[in-house]
Amino acid sequence: MNKTGGRGRFAPSPTGPLHFGSLVAAVGSFLDARRSGGEWLLRMEDLDRPRCRDSAADDILRTLEAFGFEWDGEVIWQSRRGSVYSDALERLRDTGRVFACACTRRELADSGLAPDGALVYPGTCRLGLPPGKAPRADRLLVAQTRIVVEDAVQGRLVQNLAEEVGDFVLLRADGLFAYQLAVVVDDGDQGITRIVRGADLLGSTPRQILLQQLLDLPTPGYAHLPVVADAAGEKLSKQTRAAPLDPARPIPSLLSALRFLGQAPPAELAKADLTGVWRWAIEHWQLARVPRRRQLQWPS
Ligand code: GLU
Repeated sequence: MNKTGGRGRFAPSPTGPLHFGSLVAAVGSFLDARRSGGEWLLRMEDLDRPRCRDSAADDILRTLEAFGFEWDGEVIWQSRRGSVYSDALERLRDTGRVFACACTRRELADSGLAPDGALVYPGTCRLGLPPGKAPRADRLLVAQTRIVVEDAVQGRLVQNLAEEVGDFVLLRADGLFAYQLAVVVDDGDQGITRIVRGADLLGSTPRQILLQQLLDLPTPGYAHLPVVADAAGEKLSKQTRAAPLDPARPIPSLLSALRFLGQAPPAELAKADLTGVWRWAIEHWQLARVPRRRQLQWPS
């Protein structure tokens, strides 16, 4: 592959079929990469095996193909990369900042909420496990770390990790590696230079930047797109059973995703074929037109 631009990616969790919200993230990251003459990689975030289904992953791949997405290289599957995450966790241990934690969710119930809904960790097991308690999870000691994200859509985000998130989980009590660790290791291994995804993950970005720094990985550029909400203001998600995309009718959904992202496809594009739609979209993509909102109702 000999492309000049950056390298982007789409990283769906195969817990159900793709819906309009996932299409927006796929379209935004794909166009951002292709517009710059760059590559676009695909990764299945199937780490949480109990929540994932093989049939959903197949369905996602078939839907992306039917929508005319073309990805570079092999698809990466997180479920096959346990040893890579384990090596990264060992490297973090070497920094002296990883500690075992015995706290249950119930014991943390009085804590405030981090941006992703996790509980802000009060530091209970930082200096060692309380007597008689067994380790459950591994956490990263955060200290007073102020992280700045310069987001190409949302602008500047400053997060004080210690106050707003606290020591966060790297290895979960159920034995699974945490999303924050896996995503950083994978983006690093895949050489991703540009992360374009939904703004629901903006609040996780400072944690990911801290992990990049501790693992000596470069920090990619970030662009967080507005998340699609339904008429009731609820974020579309597989869990809320958002309507699956129809692989037999990709063009209306694609045009709708382009409009959601502030692009202005001409009316006659509805009569074009898939190749024509993508040709127009790549040629006319402007990140500057994407609305600077974390969430947007659609249809508006
Ligand atoms: N797997 C995550 C999701 O489906 C996306 C993670 C990311 O883009 O960093 O929401």
